[in-house]
Amino acid sequence: MADYDVIVAGGGLAGTVTAQSVLKHGPGLSVLVVDKSPETMPGKKNTAGWICGDAVSKEAVDYMTENIGVKWGEPEIEHKVKGVMAFSPDRETSIPFDGDGYMLNRQLLPERQNERTINMGVKFEFEKNLTGLIIEDGLAAGVKGVDAKTREPFRKTCRLVIDATGMTSLLRGQAYSDKVEKRIDRHDIESTGRYIMYFEPGIHDTTEFDPDYCIIHLDQDIAPGGYGWVFPKGDKKVNIGLGVEKSLLESRNARMNKKDTVNTLMDEYLARNKAIENPRLSEDGVDKNNATGIFQVSVRRQNDCMVAGGYILVGDSAWMPKPLDAGGIGPALVAGSIAGRCAAEALEANDPSEAGLWKYNKEFINEYGYKTAGLELFRRLIQTLTNEQINYGMKHFLGNLDVESISKGEHPDFGGLGKIGMIIRGALNKRLADGLRFTTKQNKWLVEHYRSYPESPGGFAEWNKELHRVLDESNARLEQFAN
Ligand SMILES: Cc1cc2nc3c(=O)[nH]c(=O)nc-3n(C[C@H](O)[C@H](O)[C@H](O)COP(=O)(O)OP(=O)(O)OC[C@H]3O[C@@H](n4cnc5c(N)ncnc54)[C@H](O)[C@@H]3O)c2cc1C
Repeated sequence: MADYDVIVAGGGLAGTVTAQSVLKHGPGLSVLVVDKSPETMPGKKNTAGWICGDAVSKEAVDYMTENIGVKWGEPEIEHKVKGVMAFSPDRETSIPFDGDGYMLNRQLLPERQNERTINMGVKFEFEKNLTGLIIEDGLAAGVKGVDAKTREPFRKTCRLVIDATGMTSLLRGQAYSDKVEKRIDRHDIESTGRYIMYFEPGIHDTTEFDPDYCIIHLDQDIAPGGYGWVFPKGDKKVNIGLGVEKSLLESRNARMNKKDTVNTLMDEYLARNKAIENPRLSEDGVDKNNATGIFQVSVRRQNDCMVAGGYILVGDSAWMPKPLDAGGIGPALVAGSIAGRCAAEALEANDPSEAGLWKYNKEFINEYGYKTAGLELFRRLIQTLTNEQINYGMKHFLGNLDVESISKGEHPDFGGLGKIGMIIRGALNKRLADGLRFTTKQNKWLVEHYRSYPESPGGFAEWNKELHRVLDESNARLEQFAN
């Protein structure tokens, strides 16, 4: 007999929400969460802390609350905002998106999450470094690793493993499946870092700091292939950072004859912000282990298949952050809520096989994942643009409906760009319009394709072949629009 019904590998954000959802939908199930962090500092991504921009939309938190009955409040919600505002490099155009949202305290959140999760009956094992899955008869039947304190081997068995170990998952590569993707292209990874700081207000400029809005700065010199952010945590407190795509940073360095790294870019970005004076790292107890750090985040579609026999992927281990803005908390809340329910149902039916867990793939895609492949192409196009093209495109190509689409995390419809009566100035901008029309067309196909994601594993091979045919063709075509 297995030690537990469910083992959740990784007790971060996605892991604890999924564990809560399992118990909400399967109250009698035994659930163990295993994490490498110490009990006193749960849910850390790495030794530097819980590195994150800390922003999440209210809509995503409400989704979790409605589906699993867990409410977040103060103090894990540190500050409320009215949305995110993305500025063009020349700051002349801004796009609002995401609506009301929260700035979280990522150090406190796991403490509160663990209290709630333990109260629901979930057991925890801390300081266990998981290195792999136990596979029996083609099914994941447990986890193995090392006890970080005693150096003794660690091994626990279960009927179902939920992998929530984040970007660096060691378990994913061992999933007994030819459908689960094991690794991703390095160009789909952003290297990101941030500071949590107190400051004295400098000049009043809401394109630099706004206590009511999370600010995003698109700028290929400041954050090549990514963006800079200034997210308020109070009137004089900020989460400030940026993300870059490594190969684009190299070309930007070559273009500008510089040798910048993520660290030096972060310092330059902080220094140039005139609304923020005398910044100093927060030494508050709730930040002091978390005030600075760099980590990676994926910006592509979620794993093409997120289940195998006895195994489910959720959160960053499934590459869920949104391709456009690397927001991974929202999809982790949605996925965790769904995954926990599907896991409980499969165990109730005594069928945690690939087929028994399959509906999680389908339900996540219907709720959220249908749009991510199109956004991945859109992101690839945007990453190749010059600052001048971004300025022009944001000013001239975005109508109200497009802003509304972006606000909902959807690909805007640029199908009408360049039609009669619209003058586009400059060859580069014409090429951009062609590129946007192209990603719009591909996005429509991709959304439809995801809407017909197979109902069972049997249809996956053909569906996936078609997906990759179109993605490969699209990526080759995107190179023609690049500068
Ligand atoms: C700099 C930066 C800024 C970001 N900003 C935002 C933002 O503003 N908004 C947003 O929505 N998203 C943001 N993201 C993404 C967001 O942080 C992640 O999507 C989110 O944390 C994913 O949660 P998770 O639980 O899947 O993974 P994680 O938070 O990484 O948790 C993984 C857990 O697994 C544990 N673990 C890992 N490996 C092992 C192992 N081998 N054995 C045992 N335990 C293990 C870890 O200790 C951790 O507790 C940002 C990411 C970065 C890097």
